[in-house]
Amino acid sequence: MRDWKIYFLPVAAAVGVVFAAALLYRYSVLPRLTVEAQRVVVTSDLKTPATLPAASERAASDEKQSKPLFIVAPVSASGLKTAATENARLQFNLQWAFGGKSQYGWFIYAPLIQQTINTASGAETPEFAGAVAVWQQQFGLPTTGRLDDKTLYKMVEWWQSRRLNDSTYPAPNQLLAAPIADFYDPSRSADLLKVERETYAAYKKMVAAAAKDPTLNLKMTNTGELAPDEKFLRIVSAFRSREYQAQLRKQSPNSGRAGLATNSPHFTGHALDIYVGGEPVITKDINRAQQVQTPVYKWLVKNAEKFGFYPYYYEPWHWEYVPNRLKTY
Ligand SMILES: [Zn+2]
Repeated sequence: MRDWKIYFLPVAAAVGVVFAAALLYRYSVLPRLTVEAQRVVVTSDLKTPATLPAASERAASDEKQSKPLFIVAPVSASGLKTAATENARLQFNLQWAFGGKSQYGWFIYAPLIQQTINTASGAETPEFAGAVAVWQQQFGLPTTGRLDDKTLYKMVEWWQSRRLNDSTYPAPNQLLAAPIADFYDPSRSADLLKVERETYAAYKKMVAAAAKDPTLNLKMTNTGELAPDEKFLRIVSAFRSREYQAQLRKQSPNSGRAGLATNSPHFTGHALDIYVGGEPVITKDINRAQQVQTPVYKWLVKNAEKFGFYPYYYEPWHWEYVPNRLKTY
């Protein structure tokens, strides 16, 4: 009995220290590692390398939190399957609201969503659900893998947060008149060709880069410019004065929120409406659904940010130059 008492205190103290260290590790180091590990695995399209345990083991380790480096997504494999089935339906049926209007589904935003959650997999796949779950975790949402209304609102909020959020006029010397050849409408009035200088330079760089991508099939001249009969990527609208915006409102009171806006990012000269297909600037779902499927739109979603342009998710044609948000590549 006496021996037992001698050893009890040091052993209890040692157990206590180990327990405290485990707790410290669990709540400080581990969360960072977990997110990193998930990001790595999800970008490899969830293909299971030989070094990783099977999905069922990963799900088990998920619960125990004992092997954070091997977690694929914070949802079990069967959970991802269920979420994938749900997403296949939600992409067309989810009811939500934006701009005071009822919206149905998120299929129009699929390319933007895929870019945001870093997956090339379709909305109806477990891989997509896994990428949703990782994104949900990073943004503090329940990790269901389902792109439900809560998740969509959070994503919209994030997209909107990256926009200009500005409608101040540029100084007159910051504006230049772009050549009419850059515009979608060859008969556009001469007083509607103004663009902010840096925005225009970035736009030209972006078009030159797109021209080099053979998958876009853009018609080009020998000097690498868009050919005169190529409509894609041309500017539909750039700088708009308050007077012109008011005139637009009068002419077509049903022109949608952007047309009606009294505080438009187009006032800054940093916003460009770019031709991406279909009817240039019509917000009807059927038109936007067509626009977001064009290779040019998909290219912009993947590449525009490199040139400082950020999307307005609701209008596939509307891109805003936000240079101070430009990533260094
Ligand atoms: Zn616009």
